[in-house]
Amino acid sequence: MENGKIDISYSLQECIPSIFQLLEELDSDFYIYLSQLWLDGYIDIEMRKRKVDFGFCIELPYSKKFFISIYPTNSMMDIYYFIHEVGHGYHNYLKHNLSHYTERNTNNEVNELFAHLFESILIFQLFGNQKDVIRNYLNQLVISIPFNVAIHEFQEKLYTQQYPSAKEKKDLFLDILKKYTHHCVNIEPYEKEVNSLWLMQEQIFSTPFYYIEYSYAKLASLYHLALHSDKNFFY
Ligand SMILES: [Zn+2]
Repeated sequence: MENGKIDISYSLQECIPSIFQLLEELDSDFYIYLSQLWLDGYIDIEMRKRKVDFGFCIELPYSKKFFISIYPTNSMMDIYYFIHEVGHGYHNYLKHNLSHYTERNTNNEVNELFAHLFESILIFQLFGNQKDVIRNYLNQLVISIPFNVAIHEFQEKLYTQQYPSAKEKKDLFLDILKKYTHHCVNIEPYEKEVNSLWLMQEQIFSTPFYYIEYSYAKLASLYHLALHSDKNFFY
């Protein structure tokens, strides 16, 4: 998962009981399953030295359980990330209850769609009455979409151009960022830092359509919220 804006201070640890309570109402069997994973140490939300600074959920191939790691920053982002990763875990849990193996074998893009919808539904359930939280959530959701589109365009160029040099890659990335996310600001003093940001996006090398599908998953999530929310958060 990518980094995002950090605006509101919040403790994930304190929020865990409310998240689990909501999960119990949603699917009591999954709640029992997740609670056991928590007790068995499969969910790691502690801050430690040298811990990877992003959240992830990994399916364990033999046990079919999953392991979740969150890098806590004491902000709302911890809660968004945690719920998102639990969404991946819930998706895995549901898939393994399907009888046909082929139906369980969903790709990254479908996995992200499920996790984003799960994330937005739970966040609206938990914080629907806290306008500052919902605005913060929608804000970080919307502003990350152009960056994902920029990464996708960069990825497409990398895949289709013949061996661009290191300098050509940096220049190309900078041009694309100026087109999508940085056209209104002067980033000249920071260009040397900004032109290498793509190196932190590991899926560039592993998953051809990851970033554009990630953007579609976020748009689908926003669309779903706009359809089903009776609150006027979108204006
Ligand atoms: Zn995800």
